[in-house]
Amino acid sequence: MDLGLTGKVAIVTASSRGIGRAAAEMLAAEGARITMCARTTADVMTAAEQIRGRTGTDVLAVPADLTRAEDIQRIVDRTVETYGTVNILVNNAGGPAPGAFDAVGEADWRAAFEMTLLSVVRMTRAVLPCMRKGGGGVIINIQSTSVKVPLDNLILSNSIRSSVIGLAKSLSFELAKDGIRVNNVLPGAIMTDRQREMLALQSARSGKSVAEIIRLREAAIPLGRFGEPEDLGNMIAFLASERARYVTGVTVQVDGGLVRSLM
Ligand code: NAD
Repeated sequence: MDLGLTGKVAIVTASSRGIGRAAAEMLAAEGARITMCARTTADVMTAAEQIRGRTGTDVLAVPADLTRAEDIQRIVDRTVETYGTVNILVNNAGGPAPGAFDAVGEADWRAAFEMTLLSVVRMTRAVLPCMRKGGGGVIINIQSTSVKVPLDNLILSNSIRSSVIGLAKSLSFELAKDGIRVNNVLPGAIMTDRQREMLALQSARSGKSVAEIIRLREAAIPLGRFGEPEDLGNMIAFLASERARYVTGVTVQVDGGLVRSLM
């Protein structure tokens, strides 16, 4: 299937590793021109170089911290200077700090709000003039299955990610007249660096080995395994593509069947 992504311009935030990187790589493999960002210059430069080498497409690396308004504007300005427009925005970010209610304080709540919700608001605001001028666009927000089934010890994720889903649904109504589609993708248990860090934490807390925790977690996943970042990249590329032109306002989990709700 030709996804119709050749020559499109896609910004993928928080993309030096994990799900963001897989999304950038998949869009690049489909012929899109890419802007990547992450905080550490060397990491984002190296990731961009590798994707450029593998796919032969244009990849711009912009060191940026998504909690800073001026960095967000710079990501979009550099993209427009380089490619002339923005067609696709994939809003990915680092996850909020783990912890139960008693373990997180005022500063943690503010940091999670800035990283998880405000970065999406700012990125969206920054790309809209370009998308409107170009006659359309696609916005995809990477969140978590915690918006469907709250997860233990992740009070910040459980609370703040739902606001992104509300924002996206509202935007899907407001921006449809501009030809802009807005959708959300929810990773289940995906084997990335963040997941490995969480597994190590669980192991330290429970006294079980990481291998044992993985075995128990996989037993609860109907498809019987952790997801790979590429499993997310495939869904993101499809939603970004012309083949999904009638899909807006949806929230899709990519979780191997983990979420046991009807909707
Ligand atoms: P990861 O830790 O492997 O990668 C995160 C990326 O975000 C890195 O490129 C990092 O450099 C970048 N980043 C972090 N903070 C940033 C900031 N302030 N500014 C710019 N870049 C920043 O994470 P991942 O596993 O790929 O997860 C991506 C998102 O999906 C996270 O929000 C995570 O919580 C969510 N998620 C992941 C899983 C999973 O199983 N991996 C499950 C549910 C939700």
